[in-house]
Amino acid sequence: MAPLSVDLDDHWAYLRTRGDRNWESAPSYLQLAVPRLLTLLERHGIRCTFFLVGKDAAMDRNRELFARIAASGHEIANHSFEHEPWLHLYRPGDLADDLRRSHDTIAAATSSAPVGFRGPGYSLAPTLVPLLHRMGYLYDASVCPNLLAPVARNLYLRGVHLTPEQMAQRRQLGGSFLNGFGSIRPYFWRFAENARLLEIPVTTFPGLKIPFHPSYIGALGATSLALARTYFSAAVLACRATGVRPSLVIHPPDILGADDDSGIGFLSGMSLSAVRKMELLEFQLRTLSRYYTPVALRNYARELRDTALPVRTHP
Ligand SMILES: [Zn+2]
Repeated sequence: MAPLSVDLDDHWAYLRTRGDRNWESAPSYLQLAVPRLLTLLERHGIRCTFFLVGKDAAMDRNRELFARIAASGHEIANHSFEHEPWLHLYRPGDLADDLRRSHDTIAAATSSAPVGFRGPGYSLAPTLVPLLHRMGYLYDASVCPNLLAPVARNLYLRGVHLTPEQMAQRRQLGGSFLNGFGSIRPYFWRFAENARLLEIPVTTFPGLKIPFHPSYIGALGATSLALARTYFSAAVLACRATGVRPSLVIHPPDILGADDDSGIGFLSGMSLSAVRKMELLEFQLRTLSRYYTPVALRNYARELRDTALPVRTHP
């Protein structure tokens, strides 16, 4: 069993993170990316978790698409309403409002109430875990122990002009530096006497804490497809050798290519064609499925919730 998820970030969300005012017109590639992704997952017999953004769930243009994701048997989870990767800077009341609004909108659009959450940009707010617990959530998946996060952040924001305030908001984009040293295995956050919540971190290379989910494999593939495939295989084998069940995350740009004209050429790995990107993603799903059964995070969480896992104190 290996938990697999999709963070369904739309074009506007990436523009917003880069401080590009064009985000306000809400450009989208979901109508192109989602059917492609559903077909691919279906072909591999995979049912996983889709972390949806509340603002997208509220849009009429996505109604049919989001209903189709749920009807395909995938878990529906919460990825915040506004998709601002500085959730850790929200006031507690504003965070609660965003999550509740997102929860209600996603549940209405898909007829499926989320029990899992992932913060945009792997942001982890101090009041997040108690809040999810109060909302009856089963797990959080906002942590990505990634020692390359500062490098990835600089690449993502290259050529972008931001005010000092905007820079401060994005200082933890991709996860805080401290998170880089956290565990890649599941654990419980303890935040009060007898109150705990399961954390399922995104898995990075055991021992090295370098990511190997498809966005990074695509970025590496733009330099060398052979190197990208070798690195991914090595990471999966390292998980096998160390008894780690990898939790990987797919993003829509992982199946979009230079020839799709989707407006996200600023992302790493977008010099590859759509066919190459899909072949690379297929390779990863095939390799993962050779050693593990990819499942939704909810299924994984249900298996883990009554087991003895390490306990960490929530900051
Ligand atoms: Zn996201």
